[in-house]
Amino acid sequence: MDGSWFVWIWNKLQEEDMATESYNEAIAALTKLLSMKADLGGVAAAKIKQLTAELEAVGSKPFNPDERIRTGFTHFKTEKYEKNPDLYGQLAKGQSPKFMVFACSDSRVCPSHVLDFQPGEAFVVRNIANMVPPYDKTKYSGAGAAIEYAVLHLKVENIVVIGHSCCGGIKGLMSIPDDGTTASDFIEQWVQICNPAKSKVKAEASSTSLAEQCTNCEKEAVNVSLGNLLTYPFVRDGVVKKTLALKGAHYDFVKGTFELWDLDFKISPSQSF
Ligand SMILES: [Zn+2]
Repeated sequence: MDGSWFVWIWNKLQEEDMATESYNEAIAALTKLLSMKADLGGVAAAKIKQLTAELEAVGSKPFNPDERIRTGFTHFKTEKYEKNPDLYGQLAKGQSPKFMVFACSDSRVCPSHVLDFQPGEAFVVRNIANMVPPYDKTKYSGAGAAIEYAVLHLKVENIVVIGHSCCGGIKGLMSIPDDGTTASDFIEQWVQICNPAKSKVKAEASSTSLAEQCTNCEKEAVNVSLGNLLTYPFVRDGVVKKTLALKGAHYDFVKGTFELWDLDFKISPSQSF
């Protein structure tokens, strides 16, 4: 067994394009081997320690983005694409996702990871603070085009807006001074889409900490977005005909929890019509 471990590790070591994870994997394997084989002879133990040191040294080489992308795709292709020919064959013909999802651009909240969406399951829009702007052909054509395509062409059955914990965009919104002074080119103007959520939270919870207000605003902003979805005539039609459901959600990656709720017209009366 020891022999095969060494061969495996040596092979890993020789792979010029080895990703950092593989180094970490090798180091973990060596550490495990050391702990399992406490009675290893002095020479073998010394050899393993030397290998570990070498691996750690090589593993700290500068980050190479091209290499990361190449190894990432290779992993996907061998582990997923080539193992699921039926799925990818089907997807080559078209898509009919049941969900349209609005999620934050935050690197920690990818909905495909958090909700285990497989390719073809969710039509996703990601932006700062997962906001749905109101119907506006010139200001917000990007969001409008995505919603129009999802609802009228893909005929998604659900639109889910997912807020999340520690959202920098929401914190930014909550931090804009009352006089409305802004310093950024785009960010503050964008997040003010959810100004009604900020006003509601400030009015109801002025004595609570900023962190708590931000958490409340993360959820209220989702409700404002659900209200804004109703400003799109094709969304309204779908909701009225019950072919389309609007759902709000909040993913807390600190606690590891996920809340889901249906559109409630009572929550955001300012956005009702
Ligand atoms: Zn965010």
